[in-house]
Amino acid sequence: MPSPLFDLAGRLALITGSSQGIGFALARGLAEHGAAVVLNGRDAGKTGAAVEKLREADFSAHASVFDVTDSRAVAAEIDRIEAAIGPIDILINNAGLQFRAPLEDFPEEQWERLFRTNVSGAFHAGKAVARHMIGRGRGKIINIGSVQSELARPNIAPYTATKGAIRNLTRGMCADWARHGLQINAIAPGYFRTEMNQALVDNAEFSAWLEKRTPAGRWGNVDELIGAAVFLASDASSFVNGHTLYVDGGMTASV
Ligand code: NDP
Repeated sequence: MPSPLFDLAGRLALITGSSQGIGFALARGLAEHGAAVVLNGRDAGKTGAAVEKLREADFSAHASVFDVTDSRAVAAEIDRIEAAIGPIDILINNAGLQFRAPLEDFPEEQWERLFRTNVSGAFHAGKAVARHMIGRGRGKIINIGSVQSELARPNIAPYTATKGAIRNLTRGMCADWARHGLQINAIAPGYFRTEMNQALVDNAEFSAWLEKRTPAGRWGNVDELIGAAVFLASDASSFVNGHTLYVDGGMTASV
């Protein structure tokens, strides 16, 4: 019999940026462990198609189309979900972007866009959901960082700054909200094959470097993030707070 510690039956999870990639894999993983899930993206068609895929597999799934950078839309949608679908027990702040350019030529609007999406998006959704969770005295927030929460690489300094901010925003959310019964933690993925990383996946030289640089010797498979998400979303992590869990095949453990 599966341990009740990891059982998510009866829980409702909102996963931002879950119409594809890591967010979709995490939504499916939480659903497989019993949660009802609310999928999000900016594109209604893509989000609806992702919801359909989960419903076809008999999971309870709903769509919520909003842009995490729009604080009013985020708050309004979260209030709507709470009223129409149910209390949000789990929030995964996953929506994120990448943009690559040498730092001395980095376009200012791309810097702003990265911070608005990767950092402000997590603040807006975290704040709007926490206001409901605090009243209930319980809730789980999982922010998606990156190995770039810890390590830099050429051409992605602004992304690295946003993911460092996510690690510390996680600690800050914990400092403010743990006393209200919330657990706020982060998952920091290494390199996974998703659309965001398509340019790297297609680059044989990068893949060879990555396989050598990662102690596990390979790219990650998005399904390998599910265990960490279920742990941090469930009662199993009831005294884990402000922590960043690296799921990176050992990359941040070695040089
Ligand atoms: P993808 O580009 O494959 O997916 C991003 C998702 O976010 C899409 O569903 C997209 O849908 C949605 N999205 C983007 N912007 C917004 C927005 N403003 N509001 C709402 N939804 C938005 O990315 P990944 O799955 O690769 O990455 C997901 C997260 O994981 C990111 O935070 C990323 O930084 C992090 N990460 C990824 C790694 C990897 O190896 N892939 C490694 C480490 C961290 P739409 O465009 O329709 O809005």
